Amino acid sequence: MKNDPDLLVIGGGSGGLATAIRAAWRGAKVTLFEPHELGGTCVNRGCVPKKAMWLAAELADAQRMAEAVGFDVQPGLLDWATFIGHREAYVLRARTSYANRLRELGIEHVPAPAHFIDAHTLRAADADYRAPHIVIATGSRPRGLELPGGDLAIDSDGFFKLARCPARVGIIGGGYIGVELAGVLRALGSRVELITRGGLLSRFDADLGDALGRMMKAEGIGHHEGCAVRGVHRDVQGLWLDCTDHEPHGPYDQVISAIGRLPNVESLQLESAGVRLGKINEIVTDDFENTSVDGVYALGDVNGKPALTPVAIAAGRQLADRLFGGKPDAHLDYSCIPSVVFSHPPAGTVGLSEAEAREQYGDTVKIRSTRFTPMLWSLAGRESTTMMKLVCAGEDERVVGLHGIGPGMDEMLQGFAVAVRMGATYADFLKTVAIHPTSAEEFVTMT
Ligand code: NDP
Repeated sequence: MKNDPDLLVIGGGSGGLATAIRAAWRGAKVTLFEPHELGGTCVNRGCVPKKAMWLAAELADAQRMAEAVGFDVQPGLLDWATFIGHREAYVLRARTSYANRLRELGIEHVPAPAHFIDAHTLRAADADYRAPHIVIATGSRPRGLELPGGDLAIDSDGFFKLARCPARVGIIGGGYIGVELAGVLRALGSRVELITRGGLLSRFDADLGDALGRMMKAEGIGHHEGCAVRGVHRDVQGLWLDCTDHEPHGPYDQVISAIGRLPNVESLQLESAGVRLGKINEIVTDDFENTSVDGVYALGDVNGKPALTPVAIAAGRQLADRLFGGKPDAHLDYSCIPSVVFSHPPAGTVGLSEAEAREQYGDTVKIRSTRFTPMLWSLAGRESTTMMKLVCAGEDERVVGLHGIGPGMDEMLQGFAVAVRMGATYADFLKTVAIHPTSAEEFVTMT
């Protein structure tokens, strides 16, 4: 029995690593279990390689606009294999830096899966480990397409294994991953169709999905809305989707399923510890990431709260500060979490949607919004309009929600998120002198 660590962490993704590193930095003795690559989904099969693909797509788009404004360039096709080499080298550097950090801090890394023997004991690679604190940060995996022929579809993990750009793609799901991959593949030359049972970005302010839908249409992405998939089949022409509208959808070279993610709990033998699970097997936690069992905590995608890397990192650091940093009240405040969807163009959101604000604040809600064509698009003859919106509430017109879609929105949002979090009012926004000519100035000049 290896029984001297202060903390055992199951999972070496964003949340697990952040917890382990902060705890070790605070002087705790930490053992971390991760049988696969360090860095988890974000580094290996998520945010990092996705952003690389998105940047390549941005370059493809920039070439088309350069040609349109008069540059003597011929937009070229991406040599997918070369780019993937660059992408994977970047991912490897990120992974290596995590391994170095664990070594520097004296964190023991056990490259094996761990499961519970009891509430304070884990077993991994035939050894037992005991500690007063155990953090579960095992993340999530793509939800499978459980339909006839569902295994003919790939998911986001499969997307990152593609050796070439598929010519014809059908994507199921209109959430983060569906719209992100649709934009990337379209910009890199695929013919893309998106099939969604409802609208786009249904968890966001409705104007974002509407604006994105218009822009996707202008870029030539097909969108079959309100269309539920019943199965997938293949014939000599390729893959086809069988849908409730009875129209033929296909043929495609790849079908990508992006219909949400499920928490990774199956191999943990949580019943040995008595940890309570929720509806989709997420680990139920309170505001302090405590599970139903004393000394066992869960954070990141596995606890069913917003499945975002920075959320997992922030929750892990707060927890380590609480357990080992003498900060008994430390915990993550989950309100006002900014988030960007790396669609083309990117969409950003913080705070309440208009619908949520109306439910909470009733008639005191006032909306300010604008649609405009960014200068470069206009110069290049692209007529689509972007959208920006402030949701204000109460007598003082506090900005309780800020939403936008357009070039630069990804970088713009972080600063505005500080203002929203601090309780800035519409008057504060108006008092801020605009930076001209930018897209961001729209947020401080809206009437
Ligand atoms: P999302 O929850 O964002 O979207 C799921 C989509 O699939 C929705 O359009 C949903 O429809 C649809 N859907 C769900 N179940 C079915 C079904 N049975 N049949 C057909 N359609 C279905 O999940 P994603 O997979 O796109 O992403 C997973 C999570 O990963 C995100 O929620 C986010 O937390 C994280 N992520 C974050 C990113 C970022 O920060 N930029 C990027 C990528 C992922 P409906 O709207 O009707 O429910």
